[in-house]
Amino acid sequence: MYQLMWFRSDLRVHDNPALCSAMANGPTLALYILTPEQWREHNDAACKIDFWLRNLRTLQQSLSRLGVPLLIRQVPTWAEIPQLMAELAHTHDIRGVSVNEEYGVNETRRDQAVRAQLAGQGVSFTSHLDQVLFPPGSIRNRAGNYFQVYSQFRRVCYERLHLGPPAPVPPPAPQQPPPDISSDVVPTQVSGFNPPDPSLVQLWPAGENAAQVRLESFADQQLASYHRQRDLPATPGTSRLSPYLTAGVLSVRQCLNAALVRNKGIFGGGNEGIVSWINELLWREFYKHVLVGFPRVSMGRAFRVQTEAIAWRQAPDELLAWQEGGTGFPLVDAAMRQLVATGWMHNRLRMVVAMFLTKNLLIDWREGERFFMEHLIDGDLAANNGGWQWSASTGTDAVPWFRIFNPVTQSQRFDPEGSFIRQWVPELAHLDNRAIHQPPGGGDLFGSADYPAPMVDLRKSRERALQAFRNLGSEP
Ligand SMILES: Cc1cc2nc3c(=O)[nH]c(=O)nc-3n(C[C@H](O)[C@H](O)[C@H](O)COP(=O)(O)OP(=O)(O)OC[C@H]3O[C@@H](n4cnc5c(N)ncnc54)[C@H](O)[C@@H]3O)c2cc1C
Repeated sequence: MYQLMWFRSDLRVHDNPALCSAMANGPTLALYILTPEQWREHNDAACKIDFWLRNLRTLQQSLSRLGVPLLIRQVPTWAEIPQLMAELAHTHDIRGVSVNEEYGVNETRRDQAVRAQLAGQGVSFTSHLDQVLFPPGSIRNRAGNYFQVYSQFRRVCYERLHLGPPAPVPPPAPQQPPPDISSDVVPTQVSGFNPPDPSLVQLWPAGENAAQVRLESFADQQLASYHRQRDLPATPGTSRLSPYLTAGVLSVRQCLNAALVRNKGIFGGGNEGIVSWINELLWREFYKHVLVGFPRVSMGRAFRVQTEAIAWRQAPDELLAWQEGGTGFPLVDAAMRQLVATGWMHNRLRMVVAMFLTKNLLIDWREGERFFMEHLIDGDLAANNGGWQWSASTGTDAVPWFRIFNPVTQSQRFDPEGSFIRQWVPELAHLDNRAIHQPPGGGDLFGSADYPAPMVDLRKSRERALQAFRNLGSEP
């Protein structure tokens, strides 16, 4: 008789509510299901799949120290999982399945189907709160609705946090006698997802220990000055923990706890850097709540439904130039090249390139959302969709549609010495700090023969975007 811990986006043994609960209920087996077709449908990046596999290997070692074997199964999509679970439950005499809750329409439907299938066999299915601090739906406005504005959502979060922050759960029960079932080998690769450049292994080392080392070192060295450094892409001023949070190698409670310890337990006050970082963790929280409260956003629909009428341009060549980092706007190009090469992009730049695509090129935010998912190692439906719709002024908290970042002034302001541009657009490295933000392109004597001229006129393209929003009516 066993309990089954089904791992998904919670690849850790510490502070894992579902694992603790399963192990407290009896001898436990662990399971991970590879679903390549589903991943393709969700546009999951090859580097993200590789990161999952690498983390699964370290997870397997940690589980084996607890006496828990990790089973690996593969089916094409989530539709096959209920049947797979039914067979597993039968074969291994499983009495209960524990999971940590995932959000999104497909995820919810999958879990409902598994729950129903297992119920028919008398097997319990228990889901635990893990990805977020507060259950989605528990933070609402006075009218009982989900918040649509981050600052209002955050205020209520702080009220709740003052009552007592959610603490990490205690470590799993002591080692159980290893069952007579052996672990499966975690594959090094899944067909259809090419292994990324080996440099990513150094950049994003796998495992809970690596995540904890990164968290502690960020919290000790950068957190206090986060508010001053966080917008400078050439400076390692942010935590780079997003891939670990997305895969659940690290929990949001562990992050919050690390910040609180350094802020003498204070919320909403104390060190400015720490407050600012906790506010970012709450943006993450906000978008996950939005995903549950407004399921249309996880189905490719605009949050602000009236913006569905925007006449986005079909411009495949321009889209390609943006994707390849060849727009002629150095900061945009540097950022896009960073994304493709490392699976990650600095937050300030995500906003800059997203505004450039959706406003200056007037290309549908869904194109950008998809391309990001196909390349991000931290690709997360809620945060990615939230970020894209925010930038396109189609989402919650939408930036006023008439506010459009100018990629040249953003560059002068946040990469004043052009260090970030020099790193990613080496053909411009010889330019001085002034010219590097707006080089004379197209083979000009002072520019670079290898670098394209700007692909759009910023003033005219801005006006075109404003017009597209104005066309929506009095209140776009
Ligand atoms: C267009 C666009 C797309 C984005 N796509 C994703 C995505 O797919 N996955 C993702 O994790 N983040 C996404 N973000 C949010 C943000 O850019 C990244 O979380 C951040 O850059 C990760 O770097 P970090 O870990 O150093 O963050 P830090 O600055 O150290 O922040 C700590 C953590 O807070 C969370 N966080 C920070 N900013 C945000 C934010 N604006 N929205 C939601 N969560 C946030 C992340 O989990 C992050 O790891 C997107 C933002 C934009 C504008």
